[in-house]
Amino acid sequence: MKRALERGRELIAPGASVLEICEEVEDIIRKLSDGPAFPCNLSVSYEAAHYSPIPEDPKRLPEKGIVKLDLGAHVDGRIADSAISVLLKEVPKHEKLSQAVKEALDRSLKRAKPKLPVSAIGTTISATIKRKGFKPVRNLGGHGLAPYLVHSGVSIPNVPEALPWKLEPGRAYAIEPFGTDGAGYVVEGKEVTIYSLHPRPPKGWEERAGEAKELVAVIYERFKTMPFSPRWLVDVYPYQRLKELLDKLVRAGALVDYPVLLEAKKGEVAQWEHTIFVKEDGIVVTTL
Ligand code: MN
Ligand code: MN
Repeated sequence: MKRALERGRELIAPGASVLEICEEVEDIIRKLSDGPAFPCNLSVSYEAAHYSPIPEDPKRLPEKGIVKLDLGAHVDGRIADSAISVLLKEVPKHEKLSQAVKEALDRSLKRAKPKLPVSAIGTTISATIKRKGFKPVRNLGGHGLAPYLVHSGVSIPNVPEALPWKLEPGRAYAIEPFGTDGAGYVVEGKEVTIYSLHPRPPKGWEERAGEAKELVAVIYERFKTMPFSPRWLVDVYPYQRLKELLDKLVRAGALVDYPVLLEAKKGEVAQWEHTIFVKEDGIVVTTL
């Protein structure tokens, strides 16, 4: 995980191909684990999250902005999820924002312990980011991890929010503060570059899926219920056809799609993330 992020950091530069960076770091993850737990996310500036390159993606990194590199790896479905922010150009405001979010993560990790209410982490993150003059992104946050599931259903807020959960021994969680100089919340963009199988699809999805049904078996075999990139299925169908089938499966309820998330006022966004495992007597950061 750390090696993949470090290699990604080296490759991130103005003009670099987003596709080439992601394919290289995904290859590193394949060598060191059972494979990616979700596609390499490389989101730039006001793209807060969920941009992963599409097949033959021509996108290149711009001259300046904050790049969020968010990677996942798994071993037997046990997931590690970690992200860093990298500046394309030394802009003091970007540096200050990235450092504020990194400090929010560091302070959350210091505070994390068994049975801590998740709302306490939201309070720590929010206060740290606000003290530096920025806003936490209120509708993004951390999450519980479960076997082959990146989101277990438990949320870890980035703002003081009264949620019912505590950090439970025996469980893993991703803690991921996001900060911005924009509105402080994200909206869904039009682009979709990441999908996953619905863990409990609604009744009747098979009939609605029609000829797209066969693709579900391939997806389950390769990725179980973890998010995947259409890049990882272009050996089955050419991309245009694949995209039609994936969209059909989303409409049928068999697939979840993850639109690119954009800062509502196009503010710059920084993100830092680690995964923790909670033991009876403390926590271990699994992505160092
Ligand atoms: Mn992540
Ligand atoms: Mn995460």
